[in-house]
Amino acid sequence: MIKTVLVTGGSRGIGAATAIMAAARGYQVAISFHSNAAAAEAVLQQIRQAGGKAIAVQGDVGVEADVLQMFKAVDEQFGPLHALVNNAGMLEKQMRLDQMDVARWQRVFNANVIGSFLCAREAVLRMSTRHGGQGGVIVNLSSAAARIGSPNEFIDYAAAKGAVDSMTLGLSKEVATEGIRVNAVRPGLIYTDIHTSAGEPGRVDRAKEGVPMKRGGTAEEVAEAVLWLMSEQSSYVTGTLLDVTGGR
Ligand code: NAP
Repeated sequence: MIKTVLVTGGSRGIGAATAIMAAARGYQVAISFHSNAAAAEAVLQQIRQAGGKAIAVQGDVGVEADVLQMFKAVDEQFGPLHALVNNAGMLEKQMRLDQMDVARWQRVFNANVIGSFLCAREAVLRMSTRHGGQGGVIVNLSSAAARIGSPNEFIDYAAAKGAVDSMTLGLSKEVATEGIRVNAVRPGLIYTDIHTSAGEPGRVDRAKEGVPMKRGGTAEEVAEAVLWLMSEQSSYVTGTLLDVTGGR
């Protein structure tokens, strides 16, 4: 049976690398995107040209109605869901905490925490044997920021990823006997566009001297970890926070 994976934010960066790698390994892939339809289309093209099957759904993961509509589209077009990669995430311009306002914390928590919760809930409702499902896997994209704290840059984002870690630990235990494994990958400094959102496109190269391996990582190196956690090769792994950080 062909397995279905939903990769939220699968149109760019780590999500796109995960979607393309999953398709190459035999999954049919649903990606979600927020606003950049052209980027989503490019991922679909790449998967389809290689003979894979993929669809894209627009929506904001922080908006409940969008998430419900996203899962409905996957139900209708692909059938049972085997894996959810809770990858959609964002951060805002670097600044100290004493410069931040409430609206920023709400935006950052909405996209990174509420979004991951809503998608995890919808996935559990479909995958859990308690609800008549066949089991499955959830991989949450957290960040090394959760344990570093990101001072002078984005403590809000670090705190949001800390919440994602706690949700991963709790949910993994809650559904451990219901056929679902739940893990998180915590990337370090990875070459994607997210650093442009932070206001520093060259952030990885500026900070890489602080990485024990003295280099940034690629989206594909993170995708490999996600794909392993999705696979049967990690069948006894749940509730794990897997750092992909070059030792940072
Ligand atoms: P990215 O290149 O900025 O891509 C972000 C993706 O998420 C895009 O597809 C974007 O869609 C989508 N997205 C953003 N906000 C969304 C929302 N509210 N609803 C739906 N989709 C949304 O990011 P990335 O670097 O690949 O990061 C992927 C994940 O890894 C994130 O959770 C991030 O926090 C985490 N991470 C990244 C790094 C790193 O160094 N890159 C390190 C640690 C953790 P649009 O293109 O349509 O906006």
